[in-house]
Amino acid sequence: MSEGATKKEEKPRKFQAIRGTRDLLPPETALWNRVEQTAHEVFATFGFGEIRLPIFEPTELFARAVGGETDIVSKEMYTFQNPTGLAAMVRENGMLGTLAEMSPESELISLRPEATASVCRAYIEHGMHALPQPVKLYYMGPMFRRERPQKGRYRQFYQIGAEVLGGTDAPAIDAEVIEMVMTFFAKLELQGVELDINSIGCRDCRTKYVELLRAELLKVKDKLGADSQRRIVTNPLRVLDSKLESEQPIIEKLPRIADHLCKDCATHYAAVKRQLELRGVIYRESWRLVRGLDYYMRTTFEITAAGLGSQNAVCGGGRYDGLVELLGGPPTKGIGFAIGEDRLILSLQESGKAPAPQGRDVYIAWMGEKAHATAIRAAKDLRAAGFSVELPPIEQKFGKALGQADKLGARYALILGDNEVSEGLWTLKTLADGSQQKLTEPDLLQFLREQKPVSS
Ligand code: AMP
Repeated sequence: MSEGATKKEEKPRKFQAIRGTRDLLPPETALWNRVEQTAHEVFATFGFGEIRLPIFEPTELFARAVGGETDIVSKEMYTFQNPTGLAAMVRENGMLGTLAEMSPESELISLRPEATASVCRAYIEHGMHALPQPVKLYYMGPMFRRERPQKGRYRQFYQIGAEVLGGTDAPAIDAEVIEMVMTFFAKLELQGVELDINSIGCRDCRTKYVELLRAELLKVKDKLGADSQRRIVTNPLRVLDSKLESEQPIIEKLPRIADHLCKDCATHYAAVKRQLELRGVIYRESWRLVRGLDYYMRTTFEITAAGLGSQNAVCGGGRYDGLVELLGGPPTKGIGFAIGEDRLILSLQESGKAPAPQGRDVYIAWMGEKAHATAIRAAKDLRAAGFSVELPPIEQKFGKALGQADKLGARYALILGDNEVSEGLWTLKTLADGSQQKLTEPDLLQFLREQKPVSS
């Protein structure tokens, strides 16, 4: 039996998007575009420029920046081998495939689970410390984490983020970055926005606090769940993140970082709050807000929004002054945030802020050879004027065409038959009320031009 015959009998596999990934379809993508366009506009008013980053980077970059003990790096990254040097040569020559993969010259690369590490890498790589400081950058795009998928949590998700690198660590910068996110959310009319802030101190006071916390946690270890017990060793701050009901009374009695900040950190935190007040930004202090990534220090913040259930954080951010240096660059101040775009969109949809599906401005119902040629010309003209035009590729009876126009939600049907073309009078039907008018070509185009395209 030939290969072709065997294949015919097999049921073709039904492909589906991989668990945790999804397709974004129209009309929802119009909302994504609006959100991204608003980000471009608002961030530009704060002097930020866009950076486009690679989707994958050396695994070591994330291990170093995010922290080897974090869930993201230890469990959630999509990592694979990238043959380089000799390994690549051997592989390209078709020899010893597996040996090539095991070669010490092949390096591990990962799909990016976040973008701050990449922005810092780019800052160093392009010598951006030589530019006027601070450098203000923003990005948007997909991130990848192998988390348990649920509403608002995906394995491929999208972030819109911004970073301020270099210059001073003046509290006004922290406040302005937060003000920028809040301005963006206000412009989108995001509902139920709540901002939580905290300071987690610097290397000095935070280290001392973490030791104190660890000592206190060890005293109550038996009353904690398995995750928190593990975190006493790996990352005691993360215990404060716990949502486990039984742990709440214990956590409430733990020492609070605000009481253990060094003088500089306490002054910085107080000034950030004052700066937020000057900007009219309403915040809530939350001593348990520690953020999951290792690189944060001093200011941390999180923003929640309505309609998201348990995954209600739409934005997280904070200061990370040591990160560029940790990645081999000069000592550099840094602060930034990442917005979960999927959740932002979900919240906008839940509160009815999603735009209506985009219809068409004009459906051109044509019949006859001559009318087709005219219709093509009219479509070109209307599209050039910014109208959304549907031009059917094959002739249809007018009744059918008008039904089609209705289904597509068109505002007008332009009816072109050979009569219309020879008379030089075109028929325009307003679909909402069924009214019709006959107009010359220039008058009709003029009339339509005076209407606003639906997409504007
Ligand atoms: P992080 O980079 O962990 O600080 O996350 C910043 C924001 O990204 C969060 O507040 C969420 O809105 C969003 N986010 C993080 N992980 C996911 C995920 N797996 N799916 C959807 N959104 C996410």
